[in-house]
Amino acid sequence: SNTPKPSIFKRRESDARSYCRGFDTTFVKATGSEMTDANGDTYIDFLAGCSSLNYGHNDPDMKAALVEHITRDGMTHGLDMHTDAKGDFLRAFEQHILKPRGMDHKVMFTGPTGANAVEAAMKMARKATGRTNIISFTNGFHGVTMGALSATGNGYHRGGAGLPVGGHVTRMPFDGYMGEGCDTSKFLEAMLGDASSGMDAPAAILFETVQGEGGLNAASAEWVKKVCDLAHEHGALVIVDDVQAGCGRTGTFFSFEEMGITPDIITMAKSLSGYGLPMALTLVRPQHDVFGPAEHNGTFRGNNHAFVTAQVAIEKFWSDSAFQDSLATKALVLTTGLQELADKIDGAYLKGRGLMQGVDVGSGALAGEICARAFQKGLVIETSGPNDEVVKVLAPLTTPEETFRKGLSILLDAADEVLE
Ligand code: PMP
Repeated sequence: SNTPKPSIFKRRESDARSYCRGFDTTFVKATGSEMTDANGDTYIDFLAGCSSLNYGHNDPDMKAALVEHITRDGMTHGLDMHTDAKGDFLRAFEQHILKPRGMDHKVMFTGPTGANAVEAAMKMARKATGRTNIISFTNGFHGVTMGALSATGNGYHRGGAGLPVGGHVTRMPFDGYMGEGCDTSKFLEAMLGDASSGMDAPAAILFETVQGEGGLNAASAEWVKKVCDLAHEHGALVIVDDVQAGCGRTGTFFSFEEMGITPDIITMAKSLSGYGLPMALTLVRPQHDVFGPAEHNGTFRGNNHAFVTAQVAIEKFWSDSAFQDSLATKALVLTTGLQELADKIDGAYLKGRGLMQGVDVGSGALAGEICARAFQKGLVIETSGPNDEVVKVLAPLTTPEETFRKGLSILLDAADEVLE
């Protein structure tokens, strides 16, 4: 066959690649929550492009809209000019997402990655407040460009920069970081309220409500609310990085919807296009929308093909209450299956929220072995956490319950074999 052999990737692709190390085959096709490799073997996808395929692979309605757009020679690239595809997306986003939630935020299309949306958010908060310090949290992950990296906790990622990644960011303990029973928002409160703490007045407090790369640490609603109140008391903006936890991953479109807060700035990417096409945006309250023309630009802001599929994703799923109701049911299936996994391993425990849950199995070696064995059995699943110790499920939200159960049963069998 003409399918590329794994040798070309080993020979020519940079060693910076990571996922392929665990999944050493060549994928050629995917629909829904299943992927097929060159040997014709199929795999259930419990990774979903790290939450960029929340609506599954090749959704038929998105595909049809995209094919129609291409067939009629619709705009592919328009820099940031007005195009019909962009306008249609904005209208859908306003109607189905922003208005029902009472949000008057402006939509800024940034470069196509989550990291760029974070860069824009940090710069915007600094420009809007005239302050420079940004407070971020232990184990937070915000991307690998210099600004986003300065807010990222993990030393391994920061080490890739080859120079100290300072950038005037103060890191504080995330919810749960000091163990159960310790309310870490009290540290923040004390530091902010004490002129001799050495903490510079912050432009913004930046956090994920569930730390995706950091090991599925889910902040409580109380903690999040307290942190937001503190930010506003001290003249700082609240930035929620919803790149991974957004687009329905936690059960609602935004991850913070049931926490009684509305952030001043929100970053989104990954599943926004719904089709795996690069697209990112930064939502900002109008009064903080402070960039002048070209102050934060980039050639690939707003790919029109991504707008086309993103509009379908918004209209198809976020006006459909059956889809939204199904998320809680599936989250429960996930909790039950993962609890069974946790029960097999001494000291293991469940982490996360909604459809981003996993099990801390205690060591990266064990988590890696379980995922590798699961892959041999036809399940694509990855780890996260500072030591890769969390077996993490990020299946498409559209995965049928039956397939969810099948994937979980592969995972449990894999764990049994490894633990034997
Ligand atoms: N923020 C969060 C919360 C993320 O999970 C990620 C990616 N894993 C990013 C930012 C960076 O996004 P990207 O990889 O598209 O730059």
